Amino acid sequence: MKINEKQLELVDRQIKRILESGNYYSEKYKALGIDGVKTAEDFEKIPFTDKADLRNAYPLGIQAVPEEKVVRIHSSSGTTGKPVIIPYTAKDVDDWATMFARCYEIAGITAKDRIHITPGYGLWTAGIGFQAGCEKLGAMAIPMGPGNTEKQLQMMIDLKSTVICATSSYALLLAEEINKRGLKDKICLKKGVIGSERWSDAKRNYIAKELGIELYDIYGLTEIYGPGIGVNCPGETGMHIFDDYLYTEIIDPVTGEVLPDGEEGEIVITTLVKEGAPLIRFRTHDLSRIIPGECKCGRTYPRLDTIRGRSDDMFKVHGVNMFPSQVEEILGMVDGVSSEYKIDIAHDENKNRDIIMLTAEAEGRVDFDKTAEEIKGLFKSRMNVTPKVAIVAVGTLPRSEKKTQRVFDHRD
Ligand code: ZN
Repeated sequence: MKINEKQLELVDRQIKRILESGNYYSEKYKALGIDGVKTAEDFEKIPFTDKADLRNAYPLGIQAVPEEKVVRIHSSSGTTGKPVIIPYTAKDVDDWATMFARCYEIAGITAKDRIHITPGYGLWTAGIGFQAGCEKLGAMAIPMGPGNTEKQLQMMIDLKSTVICATSSYALLLAEEINKRGLKDKICLKKGVIGSERWSDAKRNYIAKELGIELYDIYGLTEIYGPGIGVNCPGETGMHIFDDYLYTEIIDPVTGEVLPDGEEGEIVITTLVKEGAPLIRFRTHDLSRIIPGECKCGRTYPRLDTIRGRSDDMFKVHGVNMFPSQVEEILGMVDGVSSEYKIDIAHDENKNRDIIMLTAEAEGRVDFDKTAEEIKGLFKSRMNVTPKVAIVAVGTLPRSEKKTQRVFDHRD
């Protein structure tokens, strides 16, 4: 979807504000002679930016407004190096809540709902984003934060929570506990709003079935407000992204070429009205595609397909590129296997080749040896590598309230 006139005008305004602010990007743009955009071609000449720039600008180098305009910061940690700090103005905070409230509305959630919020509160954007959107909508927020399963279930039952907000891993953990304790009849959940992680159909189906709820995927990242910049509609035909606040492109992660609608690549986002920390052409490293055509629901916001993985989660074994989503697809095809897994990659010095070791979980009713053979066969036929496979009982691998690391590379 080409950038439209209105969006170009907003980007032009953003660039002029950045230049005036003297922030980190103003130096970059001045050096490149960028002073605004008039056409889509001008826009495509603006270089991409990513987390490395935000780290270079640590702590507040990307701030584009005077100190008195900043009301809050958020931070994304990342596994390596310095964290990233994003300053927000009152308008940024309000715009984010407006988008998040829209997400709830698209999911059919109303002011009469009671929203049980389990993502964490703190420096990161998770819990507080779910909460601000809930309050904007006028629903009742139950600000649980993560952990303490006993208390979660007690409050869920006593307060008759109708909506659960969680990561997919934590929703799975709660679904398993509710199942184990036979509490399904006592909970009143109708919908789940699941954020921050790519997840498999097997996991989705289990959670939907065990909790008897409709599930909605919410999209977002700290650098671009936080969760709540897009959500799938009841048709489950992709996530609507709010193009009055954001312009979304898909690029080839290797060449940087902008791809046409429908083709899969890396999501790049431009903030159109953000004040505290405007970002032009920010590389998210999330992989997806823009779904062409109009949605059945009638909304005209462009749609992103389910996130397929991260361009930096890609791992290479024997020269073959693999994504965690492919592993999940394979596990989803095997009877009695859960969606949790762990992959260790090592190098065998003697044979001078990579070894891939997969640990997967299976239910007690299936034969573990046969299951391991079946998984091996699927890897061989679909990905052309043969892993060593270890099967453990369901519930053995760690469930996390935050993003779970599943691939461990032990090669030098
Ligand atoms: Zn729709």
